[in-house]
Amino acid sequence: MKDKNPCRLEKNTSDDNYYTKEVDIISGASMKEVPNILWLEEIRKEDIPSVGGKGASLGEMASIGLPVPKAFVVTAQAFRRFLVESGIEKKIFASYEQLDVENNEALEKAASGAKSMVLKAKMPAVLKDEIRKAYKKMSSEDLIVAVRSSATAEDLPDASFAGQQETYLNIKGETALLSAVQMCWASLYGARAIYYRAKQGFDDHTVNIAVVIQQLVHSEKAGVMFTSHPITGEPLTIIEGSWGLGEAVVSGTVSPDKYIFDQRSERVADVLISNKKVEIIADGDHGTKIVEVTGTRQDAQVLSDAEIKKLAMYGKIAENHYGIPQDVEWSIVGGTIYILQSRPITTIGNRKEAKGMSGEKQSETILLKGQGAAPGIASGRVVIIRDVKDTGSVKEGDILVTRMTNPDMVPAMRKVAAIVTDEGGMTCHAAIVSRELGTPAVVGTKTATHVLKTGQMVTVDGEMGLIYEGEIRHAAPAPSAGPRQGGAAPEAIITATSVKVNVSIPEAAVRAAATGADGVGLLRIEHLILGLNKTPGWFITNNKEEDFVRELHDGIKIVLDAFPGKPVWVRTLDAPTDEFRNMMGGENEPHEHNPMLGWRGIRRDLQSPDQFRLQVEAFKRLWKEGYDNLGIMFPMVSHPDQFIAAKGMMKGCGVDVENVTLGIMIEIPSSAIMIEEFIRCGIKFASFGTNDLVQYTLAIDRNNENVADMYQPQHPAVLHLIHNAIQVCREYNVECSICGQAGSDPKMAMWLVEHGISSISANIDAIAKIREAVARTEKRIILEAARTRDAE
Ligand code: PEP
Ligand code: MG
Repeated sequence: MKDKNPCRLEKNTSDDNYYTKEVDIISGASMKEVPNILWLEEIRKEDIPSVGGKGASLGEMASIGLPVPKAFVVTAQAFRRFLVESGIEKKIFASYEQLDVENNEALEKAASGAKSMVLKAKMPAVLKDEIRKAYKKMSSEDLIVAVRSSATAEDLPDASFAGQQETYLNIKGETALLSAVQMCWASLYGARAIYYRAKQGFDDHTVNIAVVIQQLVHSEKAGVMFTSHPITGEPLTIIEGSWGLGEAVVSGTVSPDKYIFDQRSERVADVLISNKKVEIIADGDHGTKIVEVTGTRQDAQVLSDAEIKKLAMYGKIAENHYGIPQDVEWSIVGGTIYILQSRPITTIGNRKEAKGMSGEKQSETILLKGQGAAPGIASGRVVIIRDVKDTGSVKEGDILVTRMTNPDMVPAMRKVAAIVTDEGGMTCHAAIVSRELGTPAVVGTKTATHVLKTGQMVTVDGEMGLIYEGEIRHAAPAPSAGPRQGGAAPEAIITATSVKVNVSIPEAAVRAAATGADGVGLLRIEHLILGLNKTPGWFITNNKEEDFVRELHDGIKIVLDAFPGKPVWVRTLDAPTDEFRNMMGGENEPHEHNPMLGWRGIRRDLQSPDQFRLQVEAFKRLWKEGYDNLGIMFPMVSHPDQFIAAKGMMKGCGVDVENVTLGIMIEIPSSAIMIEEFIRCGIKFASFGTNDLVQYTLAIDRNNENVADMYQPQHPAVLHLIHNAIQVCREYNVECSICGQAGSDPKMAMWLVEHGISSISANIDAIAKIREAVARTEKRIILEAARTRDAE
């Protein structure tokens, strides 16, 4: 196996222990003896091999005097000493010697064996003592801390496959702390983590883990700050702040107060106080919740002049240290300011290189054209990914270039500045996920993976579908530190036609809710399942049904919680077989000539009762918990018999089918044509899935860039089907909606409103413009009716 780890622990032949001789493989020089515990103040960015990426960046901030919440790190070397001294090191690695990671059963067994060895092993008394002492040193009383895993090399799997190694929040007391540390260590041996390390060529003998123990800050007020003006680079600090946790400002859930501090005059130059309707606060022991801001706090100024000044000063310290303007997250509790994160502002180029200052001419050479699939402009270095196992090389801020993304790549997609694909159209995986992540994307360039070269600097325009050579500086959005992209519409416009939002990944739920949408018109659960990297069949054959149900339940619940009292239509599984292929269990998927026309949607569920039953079980639990805003939508139905069969199966699972909201997608021309029969069979709503309806009406593969220009959502035949179906739904008073990509096009939205659609569900980034298009059209209709009446 290829060894990518910059810190290799060289095997000592005399006693077979791996930790005894620590060697930096780049220089070959011996590393200094590293203690078990390091305090943030002792850590620098070079200490990644001992404290991991997270620990090192916190240490760097603390070292320049920024008020980072108190923390210490149990080093990677401590973990290694634990493995050796407890005597489990050789046993763990022996269980890997012959492991074929493609053999799921063997992998699960090895993983659970290794994890339980780590959990059961006795932590060396010395180490226990050191952790206890460090914890006591943090505070005289038991402090509430977060215990986080921190990977020891930047390109380790936990960096690219976030969430594989654990974080434990709200830990209090020595016993809980010691066991949380051990649980973090054990998480290094999760099945998925082992699988990816093997796939990415990491030598498991050398992979280490550090654990950060940090005071948990339950902020009373928080927000973000640009240390200099994000467009002009002027010495103006822009601060946005609101009540509760900073998440509310970062995600755009709330309109924050805005303060401008002029560093030249050292004065607060401007204050804009907003009406802050909600705040995000900690929800008991885990998670967060959105609550209403009550009374006069809604309109009260969040920050005092003294706090603004102090924050601006911290911002300046960070900017001076890193050499470029910073985007800083801060938080205040009990009058104490904490700096939680600092990173370069990415919306502008390096101020020092700005046009006119360096005399450097901007290049505007267009290298490639494709379809602008997710809006935004970003510059960065190209990284070409030909195989998912290479995603470990993707770094924060890169431009990910690949043939087509798939669910395995989502963790990498989260990190990059922009995404470019050879294949695909506006409704492909890359387009859907990028829009939800708020990451600019250009799809269907045909040749990006050949024309572009790894390391090359390019600029991606996700609106126009263009890739430029080099870094093109552009007018950044208005100087608002949050929401980041595609955030809340400034004022909710009330429309008679509901404007809902599409969601595919639960982490987008807060951003989606921040748009003020009237509900979720489509929650695609396959993205949630595919993200688990195991096929539903894998869960069933490996007796892990409960895990599947729980994951599904928890993911949907996140979205339901973000939309209290508003309808959320969850669609049952609809993943073509080729999307399952790379997952564990994917080897059992049939090879189909044309997966788009194949075993997907309701037709597959009806033939796979176990798979359907597990989904229904998750829905049942949610209904039982009181989420009666949950509606279920069946995809790819072509005949009313399929609706009747699905309803019958739900009834068989104990669902009171007459009292829950069940509906269908109209994606196949037959269902548009037979809509009346569907209504007679009891559907409560129907929603046009135009992504498929267009491909099945026009015989144009939606993912095939060679025919992309013939893919026309406004083709007269498609409009004809939609018009007729809307009229029938209106006749029977059945809600008729759209959740395909066409609903995110304002022109199409106008047409739909004119033809009487009841609701439109659009992408997060399109909500504001769709709401405006809907409102304009409704007003025009009312006006025209009034004029006609007057003329009569
Ligand atoms: C559609 O077909 O329009 C739709 C929304 O479903 P998907 O894009 O997931 O096939
Ligand atoms: Mg579809």
